[in-house]
Amino acid sequence: MIGALAALGAAAAAGASARWNWWRPAASGGMPTLMYHKIGDAPPGSRLAKLWVTEADFRRQLAWLKGNGYESITFADWRDAEKGIKPLPGKPVLITFDDGYMNNYERAYPLLREAGMKGCVFLVYETMDGHNAWHDPADEPWLKMLTWSQIREMADSGVMEFGSHTMRHRDLAALPPDQVRWELVESKKRLEDTLGRETVGFAYPYGSGAYKPEVRAAARAAGYRFDFSIKQGISPLPWDREKEAVRRLLIRGDDTMLDFRLNLTRGRARF
Ligand SMILES: [Zn+2]
Repeated sequence: MIGALAALGAAAAAGASARWNWWRPAASGGMPTLMYHKIGDAPPGSRLAKLWVTEADFRRQLAWLKGNGYESITFADWRDAEKGIKPLPGKPVLITFDDGYMNNYERAYPLLREAGMKGCVFLVYETMDGHNAWHDPADEPWLKMLTWSQIREMADSGVMEFGSHTMRHRDLAALPPDQVRWELVESKKRLEDTLGRETVGFAYPYGSGAYKPEVRAAARAAGYRFDFSIKQGISPLPWDREKEAVRRLLIRGDDTMLDFRLNLTRGRARF
């Protein structure tokens, strides 16, 4: 009986080990960068439901960060730290949102504000005031993107900062160099003209191009200080920009709080 119970326990532990990596040594010294997309409940028919995080989960995750001593920063804060203007807090975290959905204004912004935290949204310039035109509606229904007045309000509040996610959300690794340059340079310039601030951060659509040296070089040449991939993990701090784009932690709609904690402490929750 005891043997059978022990075997059961071992099997359960093996199951948990296959699903989670809590037994791995904790990562140290890096700056976690969270990657969200949409906050709220996934619409019926969405095949990308895992990219929707409910408001309740998002609120819990922010509370966990605060409770564990993390302080959210913006790209500009990171830039200022690199320039020696103002040091980073002891446990910095970047909370990023890809694409620029209107639900970031309706649901993420109030919760960040309530928690006294900051976030950064990567915008697809030409889709603002419109919809997610790059998606196949069979995968994800049309969604409203942020309006320029919402973007301005959030930028002025100091709660949200904005980076570029190109003009049209195309796959940069598959584009000719002149179009890659246009996507990078034009979106940066237009964001700066509209918001009157330096566009410091850039995220590669689909993470594509982040590991293609010529695309990364084009992002550097366009003047972005920080470029972000979708490779799972926590980049060390100080970040070695010669080595690779900043890694991020994908926060999924079906993550438990254990997943969230493992992401933050281990750089990965799942296999
Ligand atoms: Zn995207």
